[in-house]
Amino acid sequence: MKTSQGIRIKSANEVDILRKAGKILNSIVVQLQGSLTSGMSTKEIDLKAEELIRKNRVTAAFKGYRGFPGVACISVNEGVVHGIPDKRVIKEGDIVSLDIGIIYEGYYSDTAVTVPIGKISPEVQRLLEVTQGSLSRGIEQARVGNRLSDISFAVQSFVEMHGFTVVRDFVGHGIGQKLHEDPEIPNYGRAGQGPVLQEGMVFAIEPMVNMGTHRTKILSDGWTVVTEDGKPSAHFEHTIVITAQGPEILTK
Ligand code: MG
Repeated sequence: MKTSQGIRIKSANEVDILRKAGKILNSIVVQLQGSLTSGMSTKEIDLKAEELIRKNRVTAAFKGYRGFPGVACISVNEGVVHGIPDKRVIKEGDIVSLDIGIIYEGYYSDTAVTVPIGKISPEVQRLLEVTQGSLSRGIEQARVGNRLSDISFAVQSFVEMHGFTVVRDFVGHGIGQKLHEDPEIPNYGRAGQGPVLQEGMVFAIEPMVNMGTHRTKILSDGWTVVTEDGKPSAHFEHTIVITAQGPEILTK
């Protein structure tokens, strides 16, 4: 079923599949995260992700998507999103954003986490905490009867209250039988706007938070998005479903 705004409402059966998909994806990301050490290249991290995806008998959603070469998007420090796994070696004090999507029984799940490598500076630690906190604040608004932009507003106000900025150029999205479904879910905006939220809507909510300017640029590889000022950026994402009891995080 689709709402008049084109948002697909998932059946209980579909939500069950998405729940399984989310569980598998979470276990992949937790294992991948645990394997990160300084000295690894982002390509090696991607190979590890590929191995975990194969072991779990699911399909990598990003590989080949519009020609993306990796299994995971791996973005280091000033990298915001869509980092192509390559020869870059991660080192102590870096932050590494891992964004991974899988397909399980025809359904997509999408999650992202920013991982500190060893000891990071207190200010970068705060960036990670605020980004994760803004994701929680956004998810908290994913409730029957709220408006879509209540999510956006909750994310932005939390981030800006802590002196950081939200990226405008990339947004969250509906998800299900496609990786990107309607609606787009910006991480900024006034509250009380957009479609009324309903049970069975499944969203990938994904704040990208910058320490400096919110502006980004794309590198010459055509994919890697970095902050315009070179300052660090963090990214956390969960796939969630709106239930009658409130938001349920699927990628947990
Ligand atoms: Mg996403």
